[in-house]
Amino acid sequence: MDNFTIYTSSPEETMEFAEKLGRLIQAGAVITLEGDLGAGKTHFTKGLAKGLEVKRTVNSPTFTIIKEYKGRLPLYHMDVYRVSDGDEDLGFDEYFYGEGVSVIEWSSLIEEQLPAERLDIQIFHQGDQERRIVLSPIGERYNLLCKELLNK
Ligand code: ADP
Ligand code: MG
Repeated sequence: MDNFTIYTSSPEETMEFAEKLGRLIQAGAVITLEGDLGAGKTHFTKGLAKGLEVKRTVNSPTFTIIKEYKGRLPLYHMDVYRVSDGDEDLGFDEYFYGEGVSVIEWSSLIEEQLPAERLDIQIFHQGDQERRIVLSPIGERYNLLCKELLNK
């Protein structure tokens, strides 16, 4: 499956790109976000939330692990950084296989529990405001989603 790379040069640009994805994304989608602290995972999620028509402000859920927002579809924003045992079942499946859109920061910590089909996103620091965003779809559904996103 192809990977897709885009570059952004401000937080706003990252959010705009994620917003486009949020407008296209469908029920039951799972997105993972990997990248160092400050890479822009939470900003990406803020943009995605806008595309999902979430009205509330999205903040990092670090201390709660999962935050749920109402929008065109529900958004389940997870930050599993503080999950101490990645194999422990915290009820993730209800979200992953639910009707909303799941976004998981630091997803590799719960690798074993992730659905096989999903959109993996990595964000790399390129400079102060520059970021490289790599989309790696797993499964045909996510491959098509990426193609649609990048044709706009
Ligand atoms: P993470 O959730 O990955 O730790 P955050 O989204 O909380 O990252 O923070 C990203 C930080 O980087 C913010 O302070 C944001 O303003 C800054 N930033 C600078 N350039 C960009 C960019 N191109 N995309 C996203 N964030 C950026
Ligand atoms: Mg974050």
